[in-house]
Amino acid sequence: MILAGNWKMNKTNEQAKFFVNKLVQDLAGMGFQIVLCPPFVFLSDIAEILKGSNLHLGAQNCYYEKSGAFTGEISPLMLKELGVKYVIIGHSERRHIFGETDEMINKKIKAVLNSGMKPIICIGETKEEREKGLTFCVVESQLRQALFGLNRDDIDQIVIAYEPVWAIGTGIVAKPNQAQEVHKFIRELLEQLYDQESAQKVPILYGGSIKPDNFFGLMVQPDIDGGLVGGASLDDQFIELAKIISGLI
Ligand code: PEP
Repeated sequence: MILAGNWKMNKTNEQAKFFVNKLVQDLAGMGFQIVLCPPFVFLSDIAEILKGSNLHLGAQNCYYEKSGAFTGEISPLMLKELGVKYVIIGHSERRHIFGETDEMINKKIKAVLNSGMKPIICIGETKEEREKGLTFCVVESQLRQALFGLNRDDIDQIVIAYEPVWAIGTGIVAKPNQAQEVHKFIRELLEQLYDQESAQKVPILYGGSIKPDNFFGLMVQPDIDGGLVGGASLDDQFIELAKIISGLI
């Protein structure tokens, strides 16, 4: 199980440090992967606070080149050097606000893997696509393109996050059975593309308006292996979510 918090563009550096110090204390000893993905500029300070704790550092994005004339971008090597273990790639806000294509996402995934970190690969359909009955088609296409050129060893290092766009930041959460059917579909597609053993090992997280009162029902689904959390990762709700997972393992 993995619980990952995507802070997006929130908090000041002081607020970030205060909150992480609290998390380190309150989440100590929890026996599953807990990942904090703060804005880039806080990574260095937060890395210091996380040293010796059971919490892991994640980033929200990166570029796919190692270095060079790419003003404003951050390379995977820079993140790795700071102690980052996970990198969110292809979040719907990156796709829709910043125009990231499936091809760019594939390059970023390869760059993250080549730098020895784990990509959290986000996929999911929009409201219009769901209403047109295109959910499985969109998810399949995004996943196939994201994984293009990845071998079995690479697959051991990835995390997938199914995040229906209509559920992100809207307060409308997918029903557990709605999420489960897509997660099962993703698992079966991984089996087809690789093999059953590899497919079973890939953590498939759900993301989209997770809150302490809707989390349990999602987490008990057989193909849901944790959550990628936005809003509820910014305050004590994150501790409640961690306790729910802790009670399940
Ligand atoms: C997200 O940003 O990945 C997310 C799921 O956001 P929220 O939990 O706020 O819907």
